[in-house]
Amino acid sequence: MTNKLYKHDVYLKTCESTILEIIDKNSGTDNSSCLILVLDKTIFFPTGGGQPCDLGTINGISVIDVFEENDIVYHVLEDDDMHMGSCSPSPAQMFQKGQTVKLSLDWDRRFNNMQKHCGEHILSGIFYSELNGVNRGFHMGDSYMTLDIDIKDITWEQAMKIETLANKVIWSNTPVITRYFEKRKDAENLPLRKPLSLEENISIVCVGDINNPADCVACCGTHPSTAGQVGIIKILKLEKYKGMTRVYIKAGQGALLDYQNKNDIITALNNKYSSSDDDLIDKIKIQDEKNKVIRQELHEIKTLLITNYVSDIKNDYANENYYKSSNAIILTKKYDNLKINDLLNIGKQAAPYIKGLLLLICTKENTLILFSDGSHDCNKLVKENAPIYNGKGGGNKNNARAIFNKYEYIDTFIDLLCKHLR
Ligand SMILES: [Zn+2]
Repeated sequence: MTNKLYKHDVYLKTCESTILEIIDKNSGTDNSSCLILVLDKTIFFPTGGGQPCDLGTINGISVIDVFEENDIVYHVLEDDDMHMGSCSPSPAQMFQKGQTVKLSLDWDRRFNNMQKHCGEHILSGIFYSELNGVNRGFHMGDSYMTLDIDIKDITWEQAMKIETLANKVIWSNTPVITRYFEKRKDAENLPLRKPLSLEENISIVCVGDINNPADCVACCGTHPSTAGQVGIIKILKLEKYKGMTRVYIKAGQGALLDYQNKNDIITALNNKYSSSDDDLIDKIKIQDEKNKVIRQELHEIKTLLITNYVSDIKNDYANENYYKSSNAIILTKKYDNLKINDLLNIGKQAAPYIKGLLLLICTKENTLILFSDGSHDCNKLVKENAPIYNGKGGGNKNNARAIFNKYEYIDTFIDLLCKHLR
């Protein structure tokens, strides 16, 4: 059994331990290997109870994972990949059974995890005392945490009230005390938020006065000694989840970073809209309205433009302004500033006037759109001829498109069609 020093002093950042066992392991898939150390005592908290494991170093070598099995804590170290080609010894050569080693925690990560974990306790405790909502699932991610509270509809107003109460617990800087009990019956009389699931060796975390706690629950994680160290709790959003409410939260350093990030975003938006925090939303709405009017005007102008282009096509047919052979009439039009959808619109409106083939070129997108009066099969013409110039596409008998990777290929393709239909 590993002596878990973090259970008695979560503020230990370094310690010396003795190696009891060394496991050299090939992780297999990429030929990488790892080294696992079992020590007589440790300051490294292993993954468990929803809290990620601690990281840090042992004799300067990075600890990349820490896990626990049957009360033994396993420290996974980065192995020799980093030392390939180096003259210095690999981690496997650096350690031996019985050796004294120095453990050093990544304290920022641990403290951050303690802030998050304790923040979750306080918030869960207040959801329970205020709404009788039980936290049925907890996830602590790198960027946010989630609590699944077993109430179907929690309003934003309720959540904000609970958030304020939770932050008041933080401001009270009430103690956070972990008590250890050998037997279940000794812990059962505490004002627990959840029934106990263990029979023995139970840790109970209590935030505040044991007679009227902000939270009191069995937990094996690490927590700061006072609520004030959590810093801040912020609820980000609520989501319906399997008949419950999933609450997204941040606490401690993560909440501060989030505030800094959001403040930067709001400042950038205020600069863009010449606004202040108070009238930003109004100014965005005004800009949206202006954009709507501009889009409508643009639509009207485009409609007029397309009508004119259709009229040009009609005139070209009337004046026989097209390529003509014994087998085909081909009218080609080129557009530099329109999109494919606009060309499809032109073709659709010009349909009653089409003789033979109408070819519309979209120079912006290296695309040729073919329309037919029924005398030619557009799809067949594209499928049979476009691949000669690395083109692709297709469609149906009366309308198809051919897309090329170079504009020049469109001209060559049209030449080929003219020869083909001579
Ligand atoms: Zn906890």
